[in-house]
Formats: sequence, structure tokens, C-alpha cells
Amino acid sequence: MEKQKNFDVIVIGGGPAGMMAAIRAAELGLDVAILEKNSILGKKLLLTGDGRCNLSHIGLTNKELASMYGREGDFLLSPLSNFGVKETMNFFNDLGVELKSEKDGRVFPKSDKSQDILQALIKKIKNSNKIKILTNAEVIKIEKPQQIIRSVTLSNGEKLTADKYIITTGGKAYPITGSTGDGFVWSEKMGHAIIKPRATLVPIQVKESWVKKLPGLSFENVRASLMSNGKLIKKQIGGILFAHFGLTGPLILDLSKEIGLAIGSGKPKLLIDLFPQKTQEQLEKDFQKIVEKNPNMKLKNVLAKIIPEKIVQYLVYFAGLKEDIKGYEVTKEMRGRLIKLLKKIEFNVVSLVGFDRAMATTGGVSLKEIDSKTMKSKLVDNLYFAGEVINLDGPCGGYNLQMCWTTGYAAGSQN
Ligand SMILES: Cc1cc2nc3c(=O)[nH]c(=O)nc-3n(C[C@H](O)[C@H](O)[C@H](O)COP(=O)(O)OP(=O)(O)OC[C@H]3O[C@@H](n4cnc5c(N)ncnc54)[C@H](O)[C@@H]3O)c2cc1C
Repeated sequence: MEKQKNFDVIVIGGGPAGMMAAIRAAELGLDVAILEKNSILGKKLLLTGDGRCNLSHIGLTNKELASMYGREGDFLLSPLSNFGVKETMNFFNDLGVELKSEKDGRVFPKSDKSQDILQALIKKIKNSNKIKILTNAEVIKIEKPQQIIRSVTLSNGEKLTADKYIITTGGKAYPITGSTGDGFVWSEKMGHAIIKPRATLVPIQVKESWVKKLPGLSFENVRASLMSNGKLIKKQIGGILFAHFGLTGPLILDLSKEIGLAIGSGKPKLLIDLFPQKTQEQLEKDFQKIVEKNPNMKLKNVLAKIIPEKIVQYLVYFAGLKEDIKGYEVTKEMRGRLIKLLKKIEFNVVSLVGFDRAMATTGGVSLKEIDSKTMKSKLVDNLYFAGEVINLDGPCGGYNLQMCWTTGYAAGSQN
């Protein structure tokens, strides 16, 4: 006689959200399959935190944590009350992974190796006799004749069936890791509204081509003011990094969501203040002090005592000066022009670099059609979601992985 179903639960996508959902469902006694199109689980997880895996963020109440995900954040309050930061840290401790937190609240494995997080998850999955891992198993079709999913079809033609299906295919960011947006396509076909997926936590391209000549140049604690159509959209302090493709660094990545929106409605500019903690007058005094001590020092050398040498020639050029003039030859007016630039370098944003280099996707399956307690679809009887496929994303700092652990746990909890 033909077997009625292959599994109790099918999890589509073996990233952090999918692994957590599978582990939780197996704990509840269910037979689970993880279908992963790559040859390994957690390919993107390995890249996180520059290979260190910033897996969570401590020091915030659940309300504060939820607010980090923007307007939609309150959706997380219910699942966080069951499986929040504390539970996540206990979970990894129980798997034998020692964790540490840094001054700013970011949580990492003590070893600084994302591999340790992935291996602990895989070990837990393999030790459970309830979870079958199917790798190189790309789902190409979900069959939903009415209000219920009947089966999924793999690229080799095999059909698999279950009582419950959890979509954890991630977003569209860093598609080389496997997240190519398949979950958005299926969900839309099944009637779900998809908030247009856009790249976020992503570098930007700027009109000023000189930036590309300074790859590796970085500044800590500068202030960026994002302007659009002459209006201030957001101000934030952080680090920036010049790259051969444009601008990146934590400050740029965190602003990229607002930059993306601003590109849609105008021509955004970033005004960078290299010394937000000092006024123009203080900086002019600093400059003057150096000149008074060394009146014959060339302008370029005076400036190199204040800012990285690499950028000096550009700033001198933008100020309309010659870098070889002597310090004593710099008039008050010239000095003012130069220091003004340190307080306000203008970059005209051309575009976001795109999904290929993005760390996350903003947009995805509309939260209005998902029950936040259970992560169950309100439209399809046996469909659940978790992780980046849903319309939730946070800034750098461990928020995106925390969202995956929390929603993965909730989605796996319903039997
Ligand atoms: C470079 C980089 C660094 C990052 N660093 C951090 C960090 O330090 N902290 C943090 O919080 N976040 C970080 N993020 C974000 C974080 O990695 C993601 O938010 C998270 O991985 C999303 O998890 P997920 O399980 O939803 O999806 P993914 O991790 O994208 O997993 C989805 C899985 O589904 C599989 N899949 C897709 N389609 C199919 C299909 N048709 N059939 C079968 N399988 C399929 C994919 O192959 C993939 O393995 C980083 C992201 C990047 C790119």
C-alpha cells in the first residue's frame, strides 16, 4: 500500500531559521525533513560576522529589541516571549558552545568561529533520530490544489509529502549562498502578498569616483547625514570604509535601508563629518597649533597630522589649494575652506550595490498574513514561515540571526 505521507514536517531551506525550526519540531516528537538545495546546511551562516557569527544581541528588553526591526518590529514580541535572547544563548550553551558578548551588546561564540555554531546545530540535528537532512534537494514546486499544500517536488522529480510545511528559504541577499528568493515566488502563487524585496545592509555606489582610488581607507566614528531633496532623512555616527566599488562599513550598511528608499524618491546625498566631536573652530585651532610649531611645513604634511595621508591630496584639491604651499602661507580664509571640508564631505549616492553584496533583504512575505504566535499562514492551512523570507529585517548587530532563531523556534513549535 502507498505510504500516506513521507514526513510530519517538511522544512524547505537549511539556514539558521530552517535548522532551528527542524530541531524544535523534532523535540516535539515529529518526523522532520530538511530540504536544502546546497550540498551543505548553513552556507550563509558560515559567512556571518566576518566568519565570527554575531548570533544575537544582549542588553535590551524585548520591546527595545523589537523596535530595532522598525515599524514591523512588534510582530516579534509574541515569539520573543517564548524564545528570546536568553533562550537562544541557553540553547547554544546547552549544545556546548561557549558564548561571549562585546561591549556594544553583540553576542559571538567565544571561539570567534561561525563554524562552531554551524557544527553544533548539525550535531544536534544528526543526534536526533527524528530529522532527515536531504542536501542537493532543490524544491522547484509546491502543490497546493486548495487551501492546503499536498506535496513538494524536487528538481530530480521526486515528490515529498508532509502534514506541515515550513518555508525558510531566506531572502535574495548574497544569492551565491543559495537564497535566490524562491520562497517569495511560491508564497505569492499561494496568495500571499509580498512586500517588494530590496537589498539592505548593503554598500553604496557614489558619483565621486575618487573614492575608488582609496580602497581600504577607513574612518571610525564619523557622522553621516542622509539628505534627500534638500531634507535631512537621518543622522548617524559610525565607521565607513572606502572600497573599489564605492562606500561601505557599518555606518553605510545600517543607513542603506533608508538610502534605498531615498533613491526611489530623489537623488540622495551623504554629508560626512569626519570630526563630529569637534567644532570647526576647534579644528582650525588644532591646524593653527601645528602650523605655529612648524611654519615651514608643507600643507600636505600639516594635514597628514590630522587626517589619513591618503586622502590629503583630494581634500587639498577640493579646497582649490596646492599641497606644497607652506603652513605659514595658508591664510585664514584658506584654512576655513579646508576645515569646512573635514566637517562636510559630500557624496552623491548613485545606487545600492545590489543583492550580490547585501547582507539582508528588506521586504518579503507580508506579516499581515502570518500569525505571529505560531508563524502559521493565515491563508494556507498547513503552511508556516520563518527567517528572512518574512518582511522583517534589522540593522547590523546580531538582530537578523536572532529573528531567525526566534521565528524558527515558533514555526517548529506547532504540532
Ligand atoms: C556576509 C553576511 C554576513 C552576515 N552577518 C550577520 C551577522 O553577523 N549577524 C546577523 O544577525 N546576521 C548576519 N547576516 C544575515 C543573516 O546571515 C541572515 O539574515 C540569515 O542567514 C537568514 O537566515 P534564513 O535561515 O532565513 O535564510 P538563509 O540563511 O539564507 O538560508 C536559506 C536556505 O534555503 C536554501 N534554499 C533556498 N531556496 C531553496 C530551494 N528552492 N530548495 C531548497 N533549499 C532552498 C538556501 O540554499 C539556504 O541554505 C549576514 C549575512 C551575510 C550575507
